[in-house]
Formats: sequence, structure tokens, C-alpha cells
Amino acid sequence: MVDYVRWQRASRAAAAAGQPEPELPALAPLSINLDLTTACNYACDHCIDWEILNSKVRHEDERLRASIRAMALRGLRSVILIGGGEPTLYPGFAEFVRFVKELGLQTAVVSNGSRNDRILQAAPYLQRGDWVRLSLDAGSNEVFRQMHKPSSQSLTLDEICGWIPRIKAVNPAFEIGFSFVITWHGGSRGDVRVIENIHEIEAAAERAWRAGFDYISFKPFLERQPDGAEVMDPHKVAAELQQIVERIRAAVARARARAPAGFAVLESTNLRQLLAGTWQAFTRQPRQCHMQMLRQVVTPLGTFNCPAHRGVAKARVGEAALWQQPGFAMAATQRILGAFDASTECAQVTCLYHGTNWWLEGLIASSTPLPADAPAAERADWFL
Ligand code: SF4
Repeated sequence: MVDYVRWQRASRAAAAAGQPEPELPALAPLSINLDLTTACNYACDHCIDWEILNSKVRHEDERLRASIRAMALRGLRSVILIGGGEPTLYPGFAEFVRFVKELGLQTAVVSNGSRNDRILQAAPYLQRGDWVRLSLDAGSNEVFRQMHKPSSQSLTLDEICGWIPRIKAVNPAFEIGFSFVITWHGGSRGDVRVIENIHEIEAAAERAWRAGFDYISFKPFLERQPDGAEVMDPHKVAAELQQIVERIRAAVARARARAPAGFAVLESTNLRQLLAGTWQAFTRQPRQCHMQMLRQVVTPLGTFNCPAHRGVAKARVGEAALWQQPGFAMAATQRILGAFDASTECAQVTCLYHGTNWWLEGLIASSTPLPADAPAAERADWFL
């Protein structure tokens, strides 16, 4: 981070003096989102990655591992195994978790819960500070099945939640979260209307603590714009928005009031912005998004600059195993840092990194002395 800020200062000084841009120092992203596969065994109405699911493109496992190894040598600290696709469907999923843990990387898994047998296999490799989060979005079996349309005719929320005590028994060191994307009448994915689940918020929280989850995390439904950007679009329900917000606020408050000690009821940054009515403030980005250097998204379809632009051509940094050749990857990152104008490309996105980006922008623009090294190691949390 310090090296990056120093480079940005030098780069802007060179531009002002009409001199060539200096090369980026030998860095790598601190954190990556890694989509192991685009395959998915659900067909969720509210899926943000619908357009890229179940493509025939696959990672070449050896090249992917070489790429992760190269990043780890240059400063990668954490990996979130996630999708566009269900990570546990990747052949050898548990072995892959073992591989990233052997590189010393903090590791997280975001799964749809359908293959908790594989989470159980991976559990022994995870440590304190790692986490698993299941995207479940419902309090009842009925709404769960309506929303997710699992390919298995018999899979229920009861069955998924029944795995949690077994996983905790194998390894209680890492946290397991219940993720709940809040959907409302009037929201849609293209022509597909989403099923509302606001009325299940409390039931989901109770189910989560009874099943042994450590927390439930609520976030708002997002949609993809025609240009591919992932946005919160409550304009569609402008007339009812205030009522929707009040219902969400009341349901989350009741869930929190009833939660037992030790169980957390969390709201995502963009949900907090939606409830506070300030979400549009987070759509004003600096021209250069600094997160592109700090966190990238590796998918079978290529490496992208941000989860909010996953699978979108103009956000593609390079091929999936890009970091196998670190010099090439740095040149590609430098290119997209210059070419991708976040102030326009992300002008509708309620960006989770809005504060970080503006803080870095201010630091680059200032002459504040920089420390010799970053203090993040003290926090022991490398997820971005
Ligand atoms: S400004 Fe935000 S939404 Fe845009 S690329 Fe950067 S992190 Fe992603």
C-alpha cells in the first residue's frame, strides 16, 4: 500500500512534468475474489451473476495454482472463494482450500450451502480469522426453494442448516455466517420478478442462531445495469421505497432485539446507506479506482478489476492465470488503472470501497510523509 501510494505520487509528478509514467513497483493484489467455477446448481431469480453462470470455460488447475503462488510471493494475503458459480462444485474443492492455506493465505468461502459435505471436508484446513458464509436468503424451506430453485428436488433449508453443528464439531475455530440478500416486490433481474423475502428476516435470524451460525448478515438486492455494472436500483420502486425501507428497518431491529448474546445481526455497508437514505453519496468515485491494485477478481473467464464489474469486457485486466507472469500482470494493472474511469464507469454503483478510495486519493494528493511500512499486519485481517 505504501509503495503504491509512493508510485502514484511519482506518477502524477511525472505527468505534471511531461515525463513518462514510472513503472509500478513489484506488487500484487492484497486480496482476491477467486471464482473457482462458473457452474451453479441453483437458478436464483435474484442472481447478480446470471449472465456468466454455467459457461463452458474452466480454470486450468495447475496454471491457476501457479498464478496464486506467484501472487503470494509478491504480497497476496487473502483469498475469498466465491462466485459467479458455486465454489464447492470445483473438482477437488477441499484440496484447493488446503493449497491456499499451505501458502499461508487467509481464506474465506461463500457458498450456496448445497454441498456442505465439501465444506465439512475443507473445515480442518481453516483457521481462526478464516470464515465461511452461506447465501441462504430465507427463513422458511418454502421461500428458500422458491428463491433458489435448487437442482436437487429434495434440498431444504433445514438440511443445509443441519450441517452447521457437524462442521463446528470438526473445527470451531472459524466463523460461519448466514447471508441474507433482502428482496422486495418490484425488484427484477431483467424480465424476471424477484420473490420478496422481507417478511422472513426475523425467522431467518432465529433459524441462524438456533442452527449454530455465528452471525446473520443482511444486504440489499443488487441488479446489473445494461453496461454490466452491479447497482442498487431502488428507483424502480420509488413510490414504495420509504415503506420498504421502514419494513426492513423494523424487521432487522426486531431480529437484533431477539438475538442471544454472542450472535451478531449485521448490516452491509450498502444496506446501511439504503436505510439512511444516503446511498447515492457512495456513487461518487474518484477518476482512478485504487482498489484495482489492492483487490482483483479471478474467474475462469479472466481476471477483472472489481466484483461490481465481474465478467464485463472493459473491466477485464487479463486472462484467468494472469499473475503466473507477474511482470505482465503489473503492466496490465497499470494499463487499467489509467484506462478505467471509475467516476463514470461506477457512477451508479454504491461502492463499498468509496471511503477507502477517497482516503487513498487524499493521501496521494497530499504531501503527508509515508511510513516505511504499512501497519496492517497488526490487525490480522486481510480481507478486502
Ligand atoms: S470505484 Fe468501487 S465499484 Fe468502481 S471499480 Fe472501484 S471498487 Fe469497484
